[in-house]
Amino acid sequence: MGTESPYPRRSPPSDHPPPAGLRLSQKQGRNRVQATPSDHPPPARFRPQRRRMLGTYNSGMFLSWFRQRRRQKLLAEPFPPWWLPHLERNVGHYPRLAAAEQARLRDIIRILIAEKQWLARGGLLSVTEEMMVTIAAQAALLLLGAERGYFPRVKRVVVFPTEFRTPVAGDDWEDDFLSDIPHAGQAVDRGPVLLAWDEVLHEGRNPQAGFNVVVHEFAHQLDFVEGLALGTPHLGQRDLETRWKYVLAVAFADHRRAIRQQHEPTFFTPYAAENEAEFFADATEAFYCRPGDLKKLYPAIYELLAAYYRVDPLTWWSDQSGEGEENAERIRV
Ligand SMILES: [Zn+2]
Repeated sequence: MGTESPYPRRSPPSDHPPPAGLRLSQKQGRNRVQATPSDHPPPARFRPQRRRMLGTYNSGMFLSWFRQRRRQKLLAEPFPPWWLPHLERNVGHYPRLAAAEQARLRDIIRILIAEKQWLARGGLLSVTEEMMVTIAAQAALLLLGAERGYFPRVKRVVVFPTEFRTPVAGDDWEDDFLSDIPHAGQAVDRGPVLLAWDEVLHEGRNPQAGFNVVVHEFAHQLDFVEGLALGTPHLGQRDLETRWKYVLAVAFADHRRAIRQQHEPTFFTPYAAENEAEFFADATEAFYCRPGDLKKLYPAIYELLAAYYRVDPLTWWSDQSGEGEENAERIRV
């Protein structure tokens, strides 16, 4: 569970809370919360029925073939030119990418926009094309180097105009009580990603500040396994995964100690000390937004994340002479 917010309730309640029984990870402003899992089992209607397994398998094969065909058709069309200004203006990473990476990013954006359901909540009238392009582009950064589907566990992206509150995980999801903590982002396993548009836009335009709520929440979605986010990505090789667990355990323990001893500021955010999943999401943000500092301070983490995401964000920032005084505030080893 998260800590109490120092601020009173301000946001109007979400009119469509996430479904019951799902586990959450959340990002509150600069802070991230890993909520405790709900004890409720998933509704019975979602449980697979053994006698239908064969039919499900066949329809799955057909759906996969159909999906491939649909994607090919989609990508055969040119990228909508009126989307480009959104990319150039709102996604600070985009102009820094190599031409081939930009082309791949545009393809991923189109698939994410076409295949996800985009919902406006919290008083937002609609999810505009600008919002979809801006959000999809930042999520697509995680898929740029590695073929791992298009976030198949995420069916919906829910956009709020600003910070929002949702039901407390582990609480009775049927009740009307909402968290006192306003969130800028939230990831629900096999459920939606919820995002505050003002935060998405600000962080998308200023990647060098080192934070990115879209990258954070979609990193959680890559990390979810069987309903839990553990902070251990599938690196594909056993020796790499063993190494990741060790490197993560050491860095996470050091960070927790620094937070406990109230060292301020720390390189990773205070909420990265909540659990390994938050640490992984926070490290992913740093990897994409402050790669120079991450590599300098935590070279093993940088190398392992580069092996996982199969990109080298340092090449995108090579024209930067240092990463600024702003970053000095973030560093505390
Ligand atoms: Zn988180």
